[in-house]
Amino acid sequence: MKIKIDSIGRVVIPVQIRKYLELRSGDCLDVFFSEEGIVMKKREKTCMICHTEKDLVRIGRHALCGKCLKKLAARQKKRSG
Ligand SMILES: [Zn+2]
Repeated sequence: MKIKIDSIGRVVIPVQIRKYLELRSGDCLDVFFSEEGIVMKKREKTCMICHTEKDLVRIGRHALCGKCLKKLAARQKKRSG
């Protein structure tokens, strides 16, 4: 599969690959250089607030870590109480 780099260095990941890897707009990739060339890996889910990869709870397409979930719950209690 051949793709082109545009004038400011962007490339488009072919739709077949995006679908196969379930990549969506806004997802993050880790990019690094190896003997084989440029490698892009789908980044595992991170907390949408603090970006940690630990202690995640999935909420629909998003994820929150336990700490951020507790902070949000505490805020919610203050508002309603
Ligand atoms: Zn968090």
